[in-house]
Amino acid sequence: MVELDEVTRSYPGGVTAVREISLRIAHGEMAAIVGPSGSGKSTMLNLIGTLDRPTTGSVRIDGFDVAALSDRRVSALRAQRIGFVFQSFHLAPGQTALDNVADGLLYSGTGLRERRRRAASALERVELGGRASHLPHELSGGERQRVAIARAVVGDPPLLLADEPTGNLDSASGASVMALLRGLHAAGTTVLVITHDRDIAAALPRQVAMRDGALHHEEAAA
Ligand code: ADP
Repeated sequence: MVELDEVTRSYPGGVTAVREISLRIAHGEMAAIVGPSGSGKSTMLNLIGTLDRPTTGSVRIDGFDVAALSDRRVSALRAQRIGFVFQSFHLAPGQTALDNVADGLLYSGTGLRERRRRAASALERVELGGRASHLPHELSGGERQRVAIARAVVGDPPLLLADEPTGNLDSASGASVMALLRGLHAAGTTVLVITHDRDIAAALPRQVAMRDGALHHEEAAA
């Protein structure tokens, strides 16, 4: 699902955020990308999420070499194959849960009625069918994150990237969000969780540990 070959990302001014990383994430895997602040996790998320391109090395997502695609094809690849979940939910405040989830299909060419029908079904999957007409401020933090997860998976992307998905949640809500992500993994989605939290990482089947822009030696050796 994800193949990085000797990927380096340097920023103007001389910071190398990610250094010669080679990594394979198989279809259907669930893994944590874990490391302290500044270790390069966000840069990895942006590279794997096709929001950024490497300075050197290659990124393949579901078999597609990102460097070989035009910006338009990369956007289409992202829209069809990658779902994103963020620490701060990123829901539109004036829109119902249903319409926030339906927005996950905005670039799919689907009409509004069909988007809403599929959004309702995605809300059922995250056990929020009864909250479809609620606005984000009428939902708890954990519920908002479940809406954001429904939006990320409404188009059935094979890859889900979750950036500190429990970072703004109390531990009970965080546990329910992690359980939901594990359920999506069990149903076949490849799930990558970016986290600085070693306990969250340790509970996942695989840990990709980062230090100073490189893979930690144990993972690199594996
Ligand atoms: P993490 O997500 O693990 O905190 P980042 O990927 O955000 O790590 O950052 C890795 C390193 O790259 C840090 O030293 C950071 O300051 C630097 N960095 C990140 N983004 C930029 C940027 N746009 N320009 C310059 N340096 C950056």
